[in-house]
Amino acid sequence: MRSWPTVVIPPLNHELPPLKLRLTSGKLENSSAHFRMYVCGITPYDATHLGHAATYLTFDLINRYTQLQNRKVSFVENITDIDDPLLVRAERDATDWQSLATSQIELYAGDMSALRILPPEYFESVTQSMELIVLAVTKVIDAGFTYSLDGDIYFRSKDFLDELPIPYEQALSEFAERGGDPKRPGKEEPLDPLLWLANKPNEPGWPAPFGFGRPGWHIECSVIALRYLLGADYLESKIDREFCIDLQGGGSDLIFPHHFMSAILAKVLTGKPFAAGYLHTGMVGLDGEKMSKSKGNLVFVSKLLKSGVDPMVIRFALLQNRYSSDRMWTDDVLHQATLKVAKLRSALARMEVAQTSTVIDGVISALSDDLDTPKALELLDVWASNTESAKFSELIGSAGELSRALDSLLGLAL
Ligand code: ZN
Repeated sequence: MRSWPTVVIPPLNHELPPLKLRLTSGKLENSSAHFRMYVCGITPYDATHLGHAATYLTFDLINRYTQLQNRKVSFVENITDIDDPLLVRAERDATDWQSLATSQIELYAGDMSALRILPPEYFESVTQSMELIVLAVTKVIDAGFTYSLDGDIYFRSKDFLDELPIPYEQALSEFAERGGDPKRPGKEEPLDPLLWLANKPNEPGWPAPFGFGRPGWHIECSVIALRYLLGADYLESKIDREFCIDLQGGGSDLIFPHHFMSAILAKVLTGKPFAAGYLHTGMVGLDGEKMSKSKGNLVFVSKLLKSGVDPMVIRFALLQNRYSSDRMWTDDVLHQATLKVAKLRSALARMEVAQTSTVIDGVISALSDDLDTPKALELLDVWASNTESAKFSELIGSAGELSRALDSLLGLAL
């Protein structure tokens, strides 16, 4: 699927130290010449709320930083364009699921483009990857890791559960909360996920040797990540690295079961552990409450843009918090970001400005320390204050140099 237009990263003549990330799990050397990153994409029925934006912005910073280190980045993202929530929403809105998905994917791509997120090299939808998924499910079945229940095919997870990232009881409740069916009678293990769902009346389906139907959620990401980051022959070829890919990312609500199950399935398919590192972003709440579909309080990027909010202000506002922390969105957050962006723009427009080279080094250093964006923005604010009050003597900076660096490193085109 076509992603959104390329975003150019202006070159940067500054040394970038290794990027240290506090991973949720795994270990990442982060120095390989080729960096392979997979980020879980949206289910296109409700795009793009600020939680999505904060997540994709985080991996965009990693992408930018790595490319600025002159390393090759392969970045792949999926679109879950067939899943229960999409079908439920289409029925509620009396529309067909395909039109709903198409409209939401377009909206999402427009939002990402406005926010200056670097597009993925491959932006792959599940419905377009069906043949690949069928081949992979066949391999999991042949390997003996499945059983059938009324035509539905489950992945047998019991041999892998000693690696659970959370206590078993918590895993059970999160599994139920996030699309799983732990209480279905006949399952061998409550946490077993669906690998393939038998077709139900009035639902879309695809042909497969093991029955007409559609894939479960987790296998799609394993397949899309492996196919587009390792190559078309990933099921046959031997992987000569310790891990299939470098980084797997998404919101913290994907840690379990989604990333756990996708990683196990990838290991079953390739014989190698999936990702060297896993990184997750915090959740975005609204006015002191959790932002969620059920509460109906999601803030959408497209609505903010429509109301005239500058996309760079949204980007700046999201950078005000560390990616890993849960944060609240309020009118004041947006208001403060508007003021800071105006202050920075006005300083960058001056003929004579405070020294810029040290500020750029400071921003790089903050980013290298687990993407410390609040620190980076604080340094910029001090620079803008110094420029405004003409608090500089001998060393005069270059506004153009700083402006380009903000674009390269933070994606802020001011
Ligand atoms: Zn995923």
